[in-house]
Amino acid sequence: MTTVPTIGVLALQGDVREHVRALEAAGARTLTVRRPEELERVDGLVLPGGESTTMWRLARSFDLLDPLRKRIEAGMPAYGSCAGMIMLADRIRDGAAGQETCGGIDMTVRRNAFGRQVDSFEARVPLTGMGDTPYHAVFIRAPWVESVGEAVEVLGRAESGPNAGRIVAVRQGRLMATSFHPELTGDFRVHHYFADLVRRTTEEE
Ligand code: GLN
Repeated sequence: MTTVPTIGVLALQGDVREHVRALEAAGARTLTVRRPEELERVDGLVLPGGESTTMWRLARSFDLLDPLRKRIEAGMPAYGSCAGMIMLADRIRDGAAGQETCGGIDMTVRRNAFGRQVDSFEARVPLTGMGDTPYHAVFIRAPWVESVGEAVEVLGRAESGPNAGRIVAVRQGRLMATSFHPELTGDFRVHHYFADLVRRTTEEE
């Protein structure tokens, strides 16, 4: 039996519509999530790119931060892109004063890391488990992953561009994150990979 999972897109701020489109192209049903009741209805969640400090403040004022943390702890699959990667990091560097995250991935992420040299750029990133062709990745004031714990699998490192070799895609169990924006390029391999992960999780449970 194939199930069609419902994947939420956190819609407080950021490039929500592009993720909705990419997930639907990957065969998922989608729901935009702004309230705790909506969060309860999804099988997995995408945290989009945008501005992590704004996302954090809005998540606090919409009473979503604790429900997000609880669902992540309870095993909900989640994928964070760029600002969303920051939201899923257990530790951040160069955050705003008091900036909080949902956490879940045992990694330290440096905010605006690439942005110090160059605001946006493109680079090739070979991605484990997502085909033989390197991904053409778009980075916009992106974070990089400075260090990861043992449970974290590195899915990709930048192969070209400024700071080649930096970790830009990771997975820890049902959680994954990329520094780049796969919703912008029309190559939806990352969304397919995540939709499969959500589908398998819903079939297991
Ligand atoms: N620099 C942003 C932040 O700190 C992330 C940029 C992005 O998501 N494109 O959240």
